[in-house]
Amino acid sequence: MVGSQVVDRKVDSVCPFCGVGCLITYNVRDEKIVGVDGRDGPANHSRLCVKGRFGYDYVHNDQRLTKPLIRKPGIPKEIGEHSGHWSEVFREATWEEALELAAGGLKRLRDTHGKKSLAGFGSAKGSNEEAYLFQKLVRTGFGSNNVDHCTRLCHASSVAALLEGVGSGAVSNQVNDVENAELIFVIGSNPTSNHPVAATWMKNAAKAGKKIVVADPRGTELGRQAWRVLQFKPDTDVAMLNALIHVVIEEGLADEKFVSERASNFEALRENVKGYSPEAMAPICGIPAQTLREVARAFATSKGSMILWGMGVSQHVHGTDNARCLIALSTVSGQIGKPGSGLHPLRGQNNVQGASDAGLIPMMFPNYQRVDNAQAHQWFEKFWNTPLDDRPGLTVVEIMHKALADDSDPLKIRGMYVMGENPAMSDPDLNHARHALASLEHLVVQDIFMTETAWLADVVLPASAWPEKTGTVSNTDRMVQLGRKAIEPPGEARQDLWIIQDIARRIGLDWTYPGEESGVAAVYEEMRQAMHAAISGITWERLERDSSVTYPCLSEDDPGQPIVFQESFPTPTGRVKLVPADIIPANERPDAEYPFVLITGRQLEHWHTGSMTRRATVLDAIEPMATASMNGADMQRLGVQPGDVITVASRRGEVAIHLRRDDGTPTGAVFIPFAYYEAAANLMTNPVLDPFGKIPEFKYCAVRVTPGGTP
Ligand code: SF4
Repeated sequence: MVGSQVVDRKVDSVCPFCGVGCLITYNVRDEKIVGVDGRDGPANHSRLCVKGRFGYDYVHNDQRLTKPLIRKPGIPKEIGEHSGHWSEVFREATWEEALELAAGGLKRLRDTHGKKSLAGFGSAKGSNEEAYLFQKLVRTGFGSNNVDHCTRLCHASSVAALLEGVGSGAVSNQVNDVENAELIFVIGSNPTSNHPVAATWMKNAAKAGKKIVVADPRGTELGRQAWRVLQFKPDTDVAMLNALIHVVIEEGLADEKFVSERASNFEALRENVKGYSPEAMAPICGIPAQTLREVARAFATSKGSMILWGMGVSQHVHGTDNARCLIALSTVSGQIGKPGSGLHPLRGQNNVQGASDAGLIPMMFPNYQRVDNAQAHQWFEKFWNTPLDDRPGLTVVEIMHKALADDSDPLKIRGMYVMGENPAMSDPDLNHARHALASLEHLVVQDIFMTETAWLADVVLPASAWPEKTGTVSNTDRMVQLGRKAIEPPGEARQDLWIIQDIARRIGLDWTYPGEESGVAAVYEEMRQAMHAAISGITWERLERDSSVTYPCLSEDDPGQPIVFQESFPTPTGRVKLVPADIIPANERPDAEYPFVLITGRQLEHWHTGSMTRRATVLDAIEPMATASMNGADMQRLGVQPGDVITVASRRGEVAIHLRRDDGTPTGAVFIPFAYYEAAANLMTNPVLDPFGKIPEFKYCAVRVTPGGTP
């Protein structure tokens, strides 16, 4: 029963939104999902947030794509907002015609202009099997490593620092290990909005007397439960974190045994932070020196201190340096490799961890084996029985730049296959990104809705939503979890695995994955081999039985390892590599012409580019329109009231948007969520990249705010 409704069946799955990975049950009646219940999963213990519980009916939205579409001849690719019906631009086609055109165009470009002329964006919203097969298609069929996905836009810098420092890009301890911590340090993350069920573990910990430290330029709700709130000035993360490390070392609080046995490069770190005393950094980061000293002492001396962070840390030109500082703070304090401690980058989308693990990134084969490592390269050439490119491919933003390169550039991108991503909303500097997508000679988009990216396609392939397929996803806690198909896709929409395999065969690959649901179990088993030890103990049968298994999981009787690094680190030396970081300012600072800072992010009800949640009835009813948030003091200075329209403009673009008062937004800043196409925050963001993670600086660019405008 759902309320008073009788249901026909209940189907166990995983929430399709955030990386917390709550286990759910779909209630199905008359072949429609009529409700969602929380299941007693290891990450959620039956809890759900508003998205997981009420955000399901997007699958039945009448805007679902139900037939393949082909662009009508002579219709130009408009990069502005689309308000009309797709039939003005596209015509319906048969699958045979659409697939022949989709694959034929990719094949023609590859054969005419070479392997580097193509690129693919996979999705963190799809399954592990889809991610694995998609990257295999690009590597073995297109012939290059030009494959990436939205991890590049969220935690690429965290992963770069973690791989360099501790040898693994995943979390060391699971979220609910905060129960075992004495101090929980949350930085650059707004978990009550973005990882709401994870936030419940933190709130419970606060109630149990644990100290929570919230460090964020924006005031967040979790701050109400915090022991200390460090509302530091935007862009001053490295100054503040180096001050904390300075205190730990200079006050003799470092765990010398841990550092001497398990870390390297300590002297360089010590030397570097000498100049970062709290007294020197306080005017820079805006946090009193005494508070910095208190926090550092409590962090270093607690029985367990755990760090959790979000994109406030990663989405900067110094995102990798920010994460290096967090690694150093944990290491010098000996707060890693034991319960209630460690490092946890809260992963954003439901499967961004799994998609990265599966190799949907341009520099790594599955399980982070570098494409330019001779041994790994040789292994995969043999495993896939195909010659492979041994140079890293282009990342998301680099691909957009190369789409606009001169014809003479041998790396010019001329064709793309985009599966379940929406770069025309999610990339920085959208006018540039949309222009790049529109300039492609051939763009194939596979999705469930007519996204902003799909409007620019030559061929649109109607795909399946998460409840319409079976597959695995991996959450922020390193849990591989099985979702089962609850309903059929609408109309002629097809499963993504089926579409990828069909395109693969049409461009010349000899693929066979027998079995139900487009061979999902066979694809999983191949991926399990490709990932070597990491998930070797997690068989498909085990997932069917247990629904969720944590990796590393080395054998079928291994229960999985919720806490890693207890004995050593998977680095070449077995030790943490400490990497000193110095202050690198944001690329675009406020000035007289553009005096405000734009901070972008998410909100509780809407998910990423909004393609799903804005078509979910309840979520759209709660938050139906785009709003910008500003501090009351700034509003008074500008002479504007809540509900007024303001125009926010950067050097790259502008939006007119209604205003909301939020005194948690720091003075001198404006916050805009990036889910709304009609006020797309990314029209304004800066595409400059962190040099290591290649992540854009979404969290900081200079803007002008003026009253008025037409939203
Ligand atoms: Fe879904 Fe995340 Fe909410 Fe859990 S916390 S119900 S995974 S959106």
